[in-house]
Amino acid sequence: MNPSFGFLEFVIQLAYLLAAILFILGLRALSSARTARNGNLMASVGMLLAVVATLMDHQVVSYGVILAGMAVGGAIGLWSARTVQMTDMPQMVALFNGSGGGAAMLVSMAEYMRGVKEGSLTREGAFTILLGALIGGMSLTGSVLAFGKLQGLVSEKPLTFPMQRVLNLVFFAATLALGAYLMITPGIPGLWAFIAASLLLGLALVAPIGGGDMPVVISLLNSFTGLATAATGIVLNNTVLVISGTLVGASGTLLTLLMCKAMNRSIGSVVFGAFGAEVATASGGNGNAAGARSAREVSVEDAAVMLAYAKSVVVVPGYGLAVAQAQHSVRELAELLEKKGVQVKYAIHPVAGRMPGHMNVLLAEANVPYPQLIDMEEINPQFSQIDVALVIGANDVVNPAARTDKASPIYGMPILDVDHAHHTIVLKRSMKPGFAGIDNDLFYEKKTMMLFGDAKDSINNLVGAVKGL
Ligand code: NDP
Repeated sequence: MNPSFGFLEFVIQLAYLLAAILFILGLRALSSARTARNGNLMASVGMLLAVVATLMDHQVVSYGVILAGMAVGGAIGLWSARTVQMTDMPQMVALFNGSGGGAAMLVSMAEYMRGVKEGSLTREGAFTILLGALIGGMSLTGSVLAFGKLQGLVSEKPLTFPMQRVLNLVFFAATLALGAYLMITPGIPGLWAFIAASLLLGLALVAPIGGGDMPVVISLLNSFTGLATAATGIVLNNTVLVISGTLVGASGTLLTLLMCKAMNRSIGSVVFGAFGAEVATASGGNGNAAGARSAREVSVEDAAVMLAYAKSVVVVPGYGLAVAQAQHSVRELAELLEKKGVQVKYAIHPVAGRMPGHMNVLLAEANVPYPQLIDMEEINPQFSQIDVALVIGANDVVNPAARTDKASPIYGMPILDVDHAHHTIVLKRSMKPGFAGIDNDLFYEKKTMMLFGDAKDSINNLVGAVKGL
């Protein structure tokens, strides 16, 4: 063996090992808001190491093409990191995810074709290649459809038709059978049919899913992409791809399960439940559809008095806070109230917003002290002693129907018990429903007051009014 090649190989493998360690440490650090920034940095350095090590591998030819690809990818990454709003993050994750799945599919296709041409394809090799192509293809089209739904390019409503599950299952079985045939009798035309079937399966998986389940399905597709990548790593005999793919697959699966738990849904009900298909959007137009019921409005001045003279205020942030980008104004209001002797805490629901940790990230951006963020389990028993719950752009996560109405699509989802507080002030623009598309009894309760308007404007007005007291 050429000794210099041996040394290079050693360096490459060492770099892969270091990269894998950095990925794992990075993931660990990402689990806490305090260390997340470092975690991101560690994982990025790991990725850089892995890329450089791969480029040192002499099997990699055409550095020009690779550098051009990196430049294009880097430019897109930089552009999206700077311009994409945090509320659009699930869409962006879906697109990145789809790209990963697509890449895994293309690599698998190329390897299969090479194996057929060179006559070197073993059955075990073909199995892994086809697995990577199947999962990668499903992840590609599934993610693109998920992107389209979240971006409003296609209807977000679940697309269902009679016998859908049976037909999907038959189609899936037929694709597997074709894959088994291609393992035994390799052939390029068969591969194209297999790829087309994988792409269609991704669409078939995501089409019947909608509403509040979309972010969960994106996380599920993320774990698919991880598995496809790991399969590609086995095909290419690339250790770091296997490790990183497995990490993505495992963390995607854990995240999916966590989200399901926080919404009291099972994976089965997410994939087959067609959330939102029968959910009548209780309020159309500007939303005052709850029959004769009417909600009580409050003026900025009265709300400011209630807040300033309260002993304790719990801020309950939701998706609307992110839309309004009101996090800095909220912190200003909280600091003002604290100066007046009010105790202020923030109640954090695990799926408030559009991705797990959304509220933590948003409030951390505004330098809200981390100890003031209280998790749902801890804050819920305290609500009955709280003077004012200030709900800012949250809706589904404070809907008491989840506790009481068995017919509600969110029945069983753990919620923040703001209705137990002495008073509730809700900041939103109208009576329109939240993500789940259902009306919220909280808004019609006697001790609830609505302050209509964009959350940022309302909070800025409250800041002005509190200052004047
Ligand atoms: P919701 O989507 O239920 O409600 C958000 C509310 O914010 C709306 O009712 C809207 O009312 C209001 N709003 C929007 N823009 C503004 C604005 N500029 N100013 C003031 N208010 C505004 O949000 P929640 O956070 O309560 O719930 C999250 C939902 O997302 C849940 O259904 C959850 O299951 C789902 N989900 C979340 C995931 C996650 O990981 N976070 C994952 C999967 C699903 P109006 O239009 O009247 O202003």
